[in-house]
Amino acid sequence: MYSSFSTRQKERSINVMEIKVGKSKLSIIKGDITEQKTDAIVNAANQQLAPGGGVAGAIHRAAGPALWEECKRLGGCKTGQAQITKGYSLYARFVIHTVGPVFNNTEKNKTDLADSYRNSLEIAKNHGIKSISFPSISTGIFGYPVGQAAEIAISTITKFLKQNQEIELVQIVLFDDSSYNIFALEAEKYQ
Ligand code: ADP
Repeated sequence: MYSSFSTRQKERSINVMEIKVGKSKLSIIKGDITEQKTDAIVNAANQQLAPGGGVAGAIHRAAGPALWEECKRLGGCKTGQAQITKGYSLYARFVIHTVGPVFNNTEKNKTDLADSYRNSLEIAKNHGIKSISFPSISTGIFGYPVGQAAEIAISTITKFLKQNQEIELVQIVLFDDSSYNIFALEAEKYQ
């Protein structure tokens, strides 16, 4: 019993990594974004803001059909931009939908991905949101290499937090071990 308890403790401790950015905190965690209790969660959406597969499908399933009803009324979202809706049946009060770039190895991919993170944080700040969870935008169906995406994600978030202390907690929630390890390694550079 004791040894299985300590193994669980150990697993938990190696699946969370935190860095302080001024008064705010950036946490890299392994988990399911639909279960997060932050004020907002971010959806890696498509331009139609339709349910689809991957993280968007999971968020729409957990939020319930009212989320898609609200999304339909927004009239889509351009790459790098973000839109906000209510969270419905999720723990999170809000969903911020952002469309990351489809990877084709261009310089524009980098600015689009940074824009997705920054515009999501900007909307969060404007709505008084204090805590927010991101998935790894664009690294699933959209094919962005995780290492390159982690660099952009963490540099954009830390830069934003340095200039905007209103947001107290940003989490990046990784679904698989490999993505978690890559993001955690990148975050270590900021410790
Ligand atoms: P994109 O189209 O932007 O690439 P995807 O949804 O295909 O978005 O994938 C983005 C990342 O989200 C992938 O690393 C995928 O494994 C991950 N993901 C899928 N479901 C979840 C979930 N429930 N919670 C957190 N991350 C998830």
